Amino acid sequence: MSVTTNLPHRHKEGNVFALEQLPESSSFEPVAQVFKHLSDAARCRIFLLLCHSEECVLNIATIMEMSSPAVAHHLRLLKVAGLVTSRRVGKEVFYRAADTELVRAMHRMIEEVMHLSCLQPSS
Ligand SMILES: [Zn+2]
Repeated sequence: MSVTTNLPHRHKEGNVFALEQLPESSSFEPVAQVFKHLSDAARCRIFLLLCHSEECVLNIATIMEMSSPAVAHHLRLLKVAGLVTSRRVGKEVFYRAADTELVRAMHRMIEEVMHLSCLQPSS
């Protein structure tokens, strides 16, 4: 029996949305975490920058007109979310967007929401 048959209001006749296919709320936790880690305008800007360019903290701080510690804080959260990776070259650490389907999806989403054309492919 469909869950929808037990809904208090029945607004539609015939085939209704297959509610059984809607995952439990707990299954959305990874999605909620990604949005949580991108729930800051400056962090979204850093993420989009790193979708198109690999940069060190000092360059990002200059571009963002922010202090290096503030940028480092944002980069830490983006790394925890798996959205950004880093590589060390000598004393320098370079950051770029991770090469994952999630990153490509968030990259596209930000550009679509902001009506931006992609500056260049991320890979
Ligand atoms: Zn882009």
